[in-house]
Amino acid sequence: MAMAASTSASSPHLLLVKSSISFRHSFQCLHRLPASQSWFEAAQINNTSRSITPKSRTSPFCIKAQADAKKEDIVIIGAGIAGLATAVSLQRLGIKSRVLEQAESLRTGGTSLTLFKNGWSVLDAIGVGNELRTQFLEIQGMVIKSEDGNEMRSFNFKDEDESQEVRAVERRILLETLANQLPSDSVSFSSRLVNIQREENGETKLQLQDGSELSAKVVIACDGIGSPVAKWMGFPQPKYVGHCAFRGLGYFPEGQPFNPRVNYIYGKGIRAAYVPVSSTKVYWFVCFNSSSPGPKITDTSLLRQQTNELVRNWPADLLNVIDLTPDDTIIRTPLVDRWLWPVASPPASTGKVVLVGDAWHPMTPNLGQGACCALEDAVVLAKKLAEAVKSEAMSIEEAFRSYQDERWGRVFPLTIRANVVGTLLQWDDPLWCFVRNNIVIPKLVSLGPALEHTNFEFEPLLTN
Ligand SMILES: Cc1cc2nc3c(=O)[nH]c(=O)nc-3n(C[C@H](O)[C@H](O)[C@H](O)COP(=O)(O)OP(=O)(O)OC[C@H]3O[C@@H](n4cnc5c(N)ncnc54)[C@H](O)[C@@H]3O)c2cc1C
Repeated sequence: MAMAASTSASSPHLLLVKSSISFRHSFQCLHRLPASQSWFEAAQINNTSRSITPKSRTSPFCIKAQADAKKEDIVIIGAGIAGLATAVSLQRLGIKSRVLEQAESLRTGGTSLTLFKNGWSVLDAIGVGNELRTQFLEIQGMVIKSEDGNEMRSFNFKDEDESQEVRAVERRILLETLANQLPSDSVSFSSRLVNIQREENGETKLQLQDGSELSAKVVIACDGIGSPVAKWMGFPQPKYVGHCAFRGLGYFPEGQPFNPRVNYIYGKGIRAAYVPVSSTKVYWFVCFNSSSPGPKITDTSLLRQQTNELVRNWPADLLNVIDLTPDDTIIRTPLVDRWLWPVASPPASTGKVVLVGDAWHPMTPNLGQGACCALEDAVVLAKKLAEAVKSEAMSIEEAFRSYQDERWGRVFPLTIRANVVGTLLQWDDPLWCFVRNNIVIPKLVSLGPALEHTNFEFEPLLTN
């Protein structure tokens, strides 16, 4: 586990108290503000006439600020991909934040994720791309087979788009790499947010499960699919889309035997894939239709048994990868999303509270874009927040609205597209499956246009 994890886990409360002092100190050192005035104080003075939105003025959640509450400037809820990438991006811009994570340590489950070139360009921008590249194989292409093992089509990514870069990364290593960029006291573990309220002075009161409270000037909610902050802001729960996924990470101690490509297998209402991650590890998933999300299963032998039943008699390589998967890496996830309809959906921010990543736009993994988009959000938000903090050109509320305006047009269509692709791929109608296997995939599908969504331009974090 990352150094940050073990250090912070031992004393989360101490860290909450310490951090506002160190924040000011570090920012003043970096940007030579007068010692008596932090950027935040400057921003507050300039924004007094415009900072409270009509919503916050009338909000039933508005309470009187407690003079003795612990104070923080920027609090990020959740040390997942979005939370850590946002904290690192802000740090690159000279801005310190406090990350609150409900778990005792960084998440070790969740197996792997496929990151496309948009994800890699963000990882490069925040300075961890090359460290990760050395640990994960570059995936050259994709082969698609039917459940009886017949190859229907194969693609080479670089033939379709020379700039494409695809790698499956272990989630644990991605999180640790991001966390290691932060000062060791940045993440407070065992810090579960249970209540959030707006205070009269425009700050936000955060109540943690252990009863402790703190006031934050800015809250960046990266608390994932079940985000309590999104709920507080009026978002409905994400919706189950009718299929679930088993995932795991096969381990080949003597070295895995596969070419670096994604191996897709399409059945009727079930699809599976396996993809090499490193010289010894192979990520796989099996996605299947189910009328309900079903109960949470923690018995890993049952998870393995259910997976095997779904793909019995499928190509031997897939079954072998599943066989070589340690029990503790097998998980089952019901797939959900939430469509951000214009007007009907609440905005991504209210006052100085903003949503990032799955907390705002949970999407199904059919395009492999959830984490990539969380990374994109992180750099766009950090850049805008830093501009608001450092100049008088815009308020923090305006920066958050500008983030939403820029990101909505990107994430809403992707959420719909991922959903439609999943629905098509999960169809179990025999006639459709016949047409798919004999006409659509062999003759009609073209990978280049299907990966256009991985083109993503963004302002560099540091301009000099
Ligand atoms: C089956 C599957 C396959 C996927 N494959 C891919 C892929 O190949 N490529 C890709 O780009 N994306 C993929 N995704 C999507 C990707 O996993 C998510 O989009 C990504 O994890 C979102 O990151 P996040 O930081 O927003 O949320 P999370 O990773 O969920 O992190 C949220 C964090 O907040 C913490 N938290 C939650 N509530 C609280 C609270 N109350 N207080 C404090 N902390 C809290 C959680 O413990 C967690 O650490 C896949 C998803 C699934 C389900």
